[in-house]
Amino acid sequence: MTKKQVLIFDTTLRDGEQSAGAGLTTHDKLEVARYLDLLGVDIIESGFAASSPADFEAVRTISEEIQRPTIASLARCNFKDIDSAWDAIKNAQNPRIHVFISSSDVQIWHQLKSNPEEVLDLAISSVQHARQYCEDVEFSPMDATRTDPQYLYALLEAVIKAGASTVNIADTVGYSIPSEFGKLINSVRKNVPSINKATISVHCHNDLGNASANSISAIENGATQIEGCINGLGERAGNAALEEVIMTIETRQQKLGVHTNIDTTKLFRTSRLVSDIFGFPIQANKAIVGANAFRHASGIHQDGILKERTTFEIMSAESIGWPSNSLVLGKLSGRAGLKSRLEELGYRLSKDQLNQTFTEFKLLADRKREVTDADLEALMSSQRDAANTLTMYALDTIQVTCGNHQTPTATITIIDPEGNPHTNTSTGTGPIDAVYKSINSIVNVANELTEFRVEAVTEGIDALGGVTVRIAHEGNTYVGRGSDTDIIIASAKAYLNGLNRLLSATSLKN
Ligand SMILES: [Zn+2]
Repeated sequence: MTKKQVLIFDTTLRDGEQSAGAGLTTHDKLEVARYLDLLGVDIIESGFAASSPADFEAVRTISEEIQRPTIASLARCNFKDIDSAWDAIKNAQNPRIHVFISSSDVQIWHQLKSNPEEVLDLAISSVQHARQYCEDVEFSPMDATRTDPQYLYALLEAVIKAGASTVNIADTVGYSIPSEFGKLINSVRKNVPSINKATISVHCHNDLGNASANSISAIENGATQIEGCINGLGERAGNAALEEVIMTIETRQQKLGVHTNIDTTKLFRTSRLVSDIFGFPIQANKAIVGANAFRHASGIHQDGILKERTTFEIMSAESIGWPSNSLVLGKLSGRAGLKSRLEELGYRLSKDQLNQTFTEFKLLADRKREVTDADLEALMSSQRDAANTLTMYALDTIQVTCGNHQTPTATITIIDPEGNPHTNTSTGTGPIDAVYKSINSIVNVANELTEFRVEAVTEGIDALGGVTVRIAHEGNTYVGRGSDTDIIIASAKAYLNGLNRLLSATSLKN
């Protein structure tokens, strides 16, 4: 018997981007989309075109560049949203318009201030309108799991008749539990007469920690499209973590009788890239992609693994593309060694890129005895930032004095977009405060620092420090990252990176 294919619908760039304070630029989103393409996802929901000019731009850019997967844009059930979605995706090789509307009484009456008949009419006319543009139309009844089942069946039947080719049962508030959700999918199959003309999709949220389990239960009951985000990103507690759903399908193929077209060996890199670009770390014990996911600590387990791997391991680290060995590079390592290590980590560099990376690698190796994979990741991340962000202001020199009997003072020189240096000296409550005040008085754009996080990229006293900041400006959030063996310098780099993003985004608006 041939196994049925489950389509993987990635909404990292839409639902995931709605995560509090994600704040991505078009370049960031394009970078993620390229990886999702390599990973082999079937559909990329690239954004919500009508929600902002920046979202529109990101959806349009991704639609034009990413060829293989279907590119979807979300739209509410109104013609303006649908027109804007189409406008943004019309150049995609495989465009999809994804319309949604609330279907539960509580949301229909209280949020929409509408009634079920009106919602049904809107859903039909919206799907019909979307179909005028595009054959591939997905419809989502929002809050489907708290919707009167009879109404849900009638709504789904009506939108399929109107031309929806995918219907997406959304557990928008993360309320359902696996057995119940599976039953709902089964009853949709039994009670919606035209259901065979559409793909059944599910969209589960993780408020109670059941998103992946609910998705698997839906597959067991006939769903053939799963929506989710890499690393389980998404609104509130997030969406189903795609790597969990994908590896469950992979590991339990015999039991589930389905397969995906995903190249699982790309999961590790995609997960790290998304974590880095979104600025959300992955918890160490996170299933599949956490730092400890394949680490066996107990003596009994280690003993078993050494005798026979399958005693305690249901899947291998290699199957998700975990770098096979932690070969350490150092001062004496050459260009070829660096190149082959980067290739093993999944980076393909042009000659110019390799040359530039090698220069930075040498600088780092001078200050740090051993350069590990994590250091290389940090190096590549800062290069990516430099390439992806319109660099308006660049750090030139920085000098800081601090101590318990001194007022922390920073003197900084920054090069402005025209290439002119500006120097400022400021004092603060601590060295980083002084640095940030100094940067602010040069760059001079209103912003509020809402998050500041320092992490050691690797172990040891000479470790690279990675700094992530979030800054708010006119209701939007921008992420900034920087790394250096000196955390004061890393902090300055991260703040400037965030400000550059802010300035790139606001210049786009004008
Ligand atoms: Zn959602």
